[in-house]
Amino acid sequence: MRFESIKRDCTSRIGKLEIKGKEILTPSILWYSSERIKPPLFSSFLLSLEESDAISHSGSFFYPMPEKKGVSIPPSFVHPYAFPPELHKEEESWNREHAGEIQIISPKAVDEIHEDTTIYVLSNARELFSNPRNFIRAVVDVRNRIGYQKALYAPGLGEPSHIAILSYFTIDIFDSIPLIEKARMGIYLFPEGGYSGENLEEMPCSCPACREEERSFSSILEHNYYAAFSELKRVRNAIRNNELRNLVESRAASQPEIASMLRIMDGEYYRFQEERCPVSGGRVICSPLSLKRSDIERFRRRVINRYVKPSSAKILLLLPCSAKKPYSYSKSHSAFRRAINSCKNPEVVHEVIVTSPLGIVPMELEMIYPAAHYDISVTGEWSLDEREMVKKQLDLYVRKNEYDAVINHLPEEMAEFIDIGEKTCRGHPVSADSIENLSKALDEKVMGYEKITKNARRIENVKSIISYQFGGNILPEGCRVKGKYPNYKIFYRGKQLGMMVGSRGMVSLTIEGGEMLAEKGLYCVEIEDFVPHGSIFAIGVKDADREIRCGDEVVATHDGEVRAVGVAEMSGEEMVESSRGIAVKVRHHKK
Ligand SMILES: [Zn+2]
Repeated sequence: MRFESIKRDCTSRIGKLEIKGKEILTPSILWYSSERIKPPLFSSFLLSLEESDAISHSGSFFYPMPEKKGVSIPPSFVHPYAFPPELHKEEESWNREHAGEIQIISPKAVDEIHEDTTIYVLSNARELFSNPRNFIRAVVDVRNRIGYQKALYAPGLGEPSHIAILSYFTIDIFDSIPLIEKARMGIYLFPEGGYSGENLEEMPCSCPACREEERSFSSILEHNYYAAFSELKRVRNAIRNNELRNLVESRAASQPEIASMLRIMDGEYYRFQEERCPVSGGRVICSPLSLKRSDIERFRRRVINRYVKPSSAKILLLLPCSAKKPYSYSKSHSAFRRAINSCKNPEVVHEVIVTSPLGIVPMELEMIYPAAHYDISVTGEWSLDEREMVKKQLDLYVRKNEYDAVINHLPEEMAEFIDIGEKTCRGHPVSADSIENLSKALDEKVMGYEKITKNARRIENVKSIISYQFGGNILPEGCRVKGKYPNYKIFYRGKQLGMMVGSRGMVSLTIEGGEMLAEKGLYCVEIEDFVPHGSIFAIGVKDADREIRCGDEVVATHDGEVRAVGVAEMSGEEMVESSRGIAVKVRHHKK
């Protein structure tokens, strides 16, 4: 048996579980099968004592069953979660002794684990799930202990409405037991929750079971099977499209207990999520729960901790966001830009967008994920949380990046709580009055500065992007930038160092650019002694910068020599820990 992650999105991933020559895609449902309970026709991953290619189970400490041939869940010895740690210690040794390819693991005793195990079974998963805080702590403790390359199974969980959040919590396998139990109670399960048959005068489902008039146990069960299987496929598609978090938030909207889990996760386990979360992604559909999602929080932290403003930018111009992204492609921002360009020294002006949930976005970062990817309904009303976040973010930002003056072109409802600078907005930000005020303020403020050329400012902008991307400046003095925005090419002494790619908003490096990155010791992946051509597999990685996230631009080195540049397919930590899977997709390699 072996397990490998093949696609990552937020905390979650799609994996490939090879079991008895069969390949199972995870997240997956383990379908219970017995003489009385038939699994659905589409099932290929079975939990059964009878079928020969299924995962079997061997009872418990108290009622052991005869050992089955093949892959079997070992007999379990499990104390309730609330029992004191000493008792969990007892079960730990017992479970380790009985472990094979599958091991039962207690979240309260994770010291002794059987390293050759592929699937870990979270003990008390069902009991824990009813207490969000305990459940999350348990999953995080177990996941941190077993690492990236193992599958985690939460037995007794797998209702359609829970599949998205469980996948988000790094659980790879659920089962059909709750589908059966709910069918016995006459409950039809849907992605947003369950309904008793009595409350479904019209059946809002057209699965094969619901197309029949019959409402028996077996037809409800069949419906529940279809509902869970559809949601499972929806979740896997969301992971493929880097949009699982959107799906989880929409599930949380109809289930308060899921919302609580997400809040606890975001509030207390930022690091756990952030290090798994790729730096690029799909659309970000914002709900009130998006304010603390880890990719957005990471953006805010990097703007404060890493980003350095262009040095010629002396006048801070605060602007509202636009519905259209990137901002500069919108009508409103084109109007702001015209006003800036018509002043005498436009390159000393710095456009910074004030927005929820990102906080503030310096204009050069407009293409970077998630700045170009978020959608939020704009009503002009700001919640207290949003106000506080934006104020704090702006305050931290101007403390680090000093300007000589601030022009505040935010609409009145925002300028009311962002009370800094000269306010130029009257009514709508692009009204004739507002634009005239803005132009006047700009003319006045840019006076007295040495004229900055477009070219000089362009290279500063690229440096600012690099400071955000790598956490340091890697460009030597004397670089030049050519090309049309956003696809800038960076040159030094006639050689190209890299290129800004509009679709990623980040800088992609050439080998020469990689050398500059390696010199600073940033985003390096130390590999065995070879020149990689297509992909670097995790097995060939000796060490990696722990700042590396999936999607990052990295440089592969061996003994101080640059061998390749490319894009990370997993985080630095996962590369070092793993022995399988693609670590880096190579773009250029050493000749
Ligand atoms: Zn149905």
